[in-house]
Amino acid sequence: MALRFFNTLTRTLEDFASIEEGHVRMYTCGPTVYERPHIGNFRTFLFDDILRRYLAWKGYQVTHVRNITDVDDNTIREAVKAGTSLHDLTEPFIAAFFEDLERLGLKPAEQYPRATDYIPQMIELVERLHTRQLAYEADGSVYFDISKFPEYGRLAQLDKSEIRAGMRVSSDEAYEKQDARDFVLWKGGERPEEGDVAVWDSPWGPGRPGWHLECSVMATTLLGETIDIHTGGVDLIFPHHTNEIAQSEGACGCPFARYWLHASHLLVNNAKMSKSAGNFYTIQDLIDQGYPPSVIRRLLVSAHYRTELNFTLEGLEDAGRSVERLMELRRRLEAAPGQASDLPATRLPELARAALESFEEAMDDDLNVAEGWGALFVFVRDANAELDRAAGVAAEAEVTAALEAVKSMDSVFGVLDLAEREVDEVPDELRGWIEDRLAARARARENGDYARADSIREELAGAGIEIEDTPGGSRWKRAKPA
Ligand code: AMP
Ligand code: ZN
Repeated sequence: MALRFFNTLTRTLEDFASIEEGHVRMYTCGPTVYERPHIGNFRTFLFDDILRRYLAWKGYQVTHVRNITDVDDNTIREAVKAGTSLHDLTEPFIAAFFEDLERLGLKPAEQYPRATDYIPQMIELVERLHTRQLAYEADGSVYFDISKFPEYGRLAQLDKSEIRAGMRVSSDEAYEKQDARDFVLWKGGERPEEGDVAVWDSPWGPGRPGWHLECSVMATTLLGETIDIHTGGVDLIFPHHTNEIAQSEGACGCPFARYWLHASHLLVNNAKMSKSAGNFYTIQDLIDQGYPPSVIRRLLVSAHYRTELNFTLEGLEDAGRSVERLMELRRRLEAAPGQASDLPATRLPELARAALESFEEAMDDDLNVAEGWGALFVFVRDANAELDRAAGVAAEAEVTAALEAVKSMDSVFGVLDLAEREVDEVPDELRGWIEDRLAARARARENGDYARADSIREELAGAGIEIEDTPGGSRWKRAKPA
């Protein structure tokens, strides 16, 4: 089966073909930086990451632009409230965003444009729309005239009879969904409540860009007039992406993005996690509760991107167990190569091939990660059974085939490398001491001195180290803070 995606534009599954052979250009709406992005935002960003990684897995070169919205109603409001500049307000949240991207192991995008660096290009786009008579000026602001753009609302499947052109909305926040009207491109005129936090000169007098304009400009400036894939959360279909299409296509008379992919929301207690509702966790909150990034990532990329995912701590516990199972198989495989020339053959290479086939079939089908993970975990179960049968030893080439399959699938999921990194982050000195204590405990148990074994367990627990006894020996991990 060929790679296919559910295109919001047509509401159908479509085979994917890039404009330029072997190269995909994609644009993602990034965070609005007036607070630290929460794990709901990261669910969407991780979906882009899986998309990007899978395109690379299929052999595409990917040029990915993930913008930073550092000027809009929210950032301006918060800067005014804090009595600070837009720059000083947003800088710490931008830094936090990059920190969390790195912690969750997202592949870096090729570019992270900030809206405030593209104001001249935004003014140019408004001028083009003006020249093409798709925009008009009123009270120092410039509006897009949706009555001049017959395709308006296609992405959101707006009912044309309900579209009310000629009514203006000058604020992003006041722009209610399912109420299509002429939207603002450039906000001029008097806005005393915004002070001088965000004011640029323009042919229409001082003002600032509308939010939708920003993404149109960053996407087309950096990726060209027609791009392959545009992504974001479902809440952006209308009005944000609908208006991006009107602006970009209105200005160039060509299609803007060929495939529109939208991620469903992360919920908490069955409600959308959002900054405004205040019902959110950040990555830092979860790390503080003892959940490592590999586990957070595993949970956030566990479900199909078009299904909602309800966030729970139990879900995180399950995710932790599945990361452990993966680590355990990798440890077993790494210890498995035997040197004897007469080792009996195992089914590891055959299982590896089958797993990769099912993985590709699942992921080709609109990134069905749930089934993709299924392929990986069936392999974990079967490879463990095969290793049990072979008393944990197999020929090196067979073990390599198995390890390569795990590595290949994880090059898309991106969990194992993160988990490995977290283990490596334990300083050598501490690791040496833990290993030494574990060896002492094993000796005590061998000698039947269970009181001493227990006291060593408590000593380790006191140092924040938890021991788990498994058939393969004792393992340790950092305990979660109480
Ligand atoms: P914002 O910072 O609000 O501009 O959002 C950045 C991205 O996160 C957008 O693509 C949103 O659609 C997405 N987003 C916001 N809330 C959630 C959520 N609860 N679950 C998934 N994605 C979300
Ligand atoms: Zn955007």
